[in-house]
Amino acid sequence: MDFSQLNLLPEILSAIRDSGYEQPSPIQSRAIPVILEGKSVLGCAQTGSGKTAAFSLPILDMIARKKDGHSDNRREILALILAPTRELALQIDECIRMYSKYLTLKSGVVFGGTSQKNQEKMLSDGIDILVATPGRLWDLYRQKLLKLNKVEIFVIDEADRMLDMGFIADVRRISDVLVSKRQTLMFSATMPDEIVELIGSMLSDYVTVEADPASSEVKTIDQRVYFVDTANKHRLLVDIIKSERISSALVFTRTKHGADALTRRLTKAGIKCRAIHGDKSQPARQVALSKFKKGEIDILIATEIAARGIDIENLPYVFNYNIPEDPEMYIHRIGRTGRAGASGSAISFCNYEEQPLLYDIEKLLGHKIPVIEGHGYPMTDFTADSRSGGQNKTVSLPQTSGSFAPPTVSKFPKGLTRPRRPRSFKKMK
Ligand code: AMP
Repeated sequence: MDFSQLNLLPEILSAIRDSGYEQPSPIQSRAIPVILEGKSVLGCAQTGSGKTAAFSLPILDMIARKKDGHSDNRREILALILAPTRELALQIDECIRMYSKYLTLKSGVVFGGTSQKNQEKMLSDGIDILVATPGRLWDLYRQKLLKLNKVEIFVIDEADRMLDMGFIADVRRISDVLVSKRQTLMFSATMPDEIVELIGSMLSDYVTVEADPASSEVKTIDQRVYFVDTANKHRLLVDIIKSERISSALVFTRTKHGADALTRRLTKAGIKCRAIHGDKSQPARQVALSKFKKGEIDILIATEIAARGIDIENLPYVFNYNIPEDPEMYIHRIGRTGRAGASGSAISFCNYEEQPLLYDIEKLLGHKIPVIEGHGYPMTDFTADSRSGGQNKTVSLPQTSGSFAPPTVSKFPKGLTRPRRPRSFKKMK
């Protein structure tokens, strides 16, 4: 399919051409016609699938057509887009500005953690499309600084993330003050019970559009796992970054504290890096992200929540410094690389205690992730408490060397028996 077959305005098609998009992604070719028909949509799609354009392009088209020829220049919020994080809200707004550059529509973004002043001014000047995080939007609404009574299209992006971050109550409150006769577009990569319930309460007559379900892994990604003790993970990371001359990688850590500790260690090893997480101020996060995008730093270390929604194109490496607890999160994380058909590497560090989590991921993938052996820091800590950094060793193997040896791939490191699968682990097809 071609974008020109989607019946979008010529101004929008020109902006799409300028963006360098050649063809609609699957979620775009499925969702855009349905949204243009005025139907509510439940989109099962993750970051990287092109879902932002899937809802933004038809919204721009519908609003531009509605306003066309009206001499009345008054701007009212006709479309409201909720996003779980400031970073994602900013990115959506950026995309909308790009896609609407040949139109006369105005969009704006509001999010918390920063002064409200500029946002108030932008709202009082008038906008047609508002992108917002739920908490700040609700605050502004309660202060009567914006009106939502003209909203015709309501988008809830990354609904599952809203749930994880405790925003569902705000989302419900906002939904309750909107007119009931509206078009609702909800996107979620996963469908936990609470989201299914939210869908039931917010969407009555809707079309489900599925593209890129969370369990569909990106085929161009080279995945590998290293078995390594927690205490040696930072050393192994330094070795890999140096030996593979990595100049652009996103490293996921489980905790904010872990992200800061790793940043200190990498900096000490002479690696240019920054951390982004919930305790960092909004300007600090933006600076880190923009330095990373410009190539001024090589490694961005992020917690899951801070990294959520960040769009970094052409990312060649993603590291799982810890194995994520939710297998679908693994798919989301590695989806940061290998976008738009490009190749990428997803490298995971797994300690003894994390192995059941790795099995769950392999079960979801339907195949094993190749294990790299012959690295300088083989696992020696076989205790359940290995997160502690290996204080209570029960088995010790001689450490081969501290330097990075050329890796070879095997099913499991030589000399070690792969621990038994947990009971729930069924044989994979
Ligand atoms: P999203 O899933 O919305 O976060 O989009 C992921 C990335 O894909 C963004 O960098 C978009 O600019 C890009 N993108 C969106 N649609 C297309 C398309 N049809 N062709 C190529 N790239 C696209």
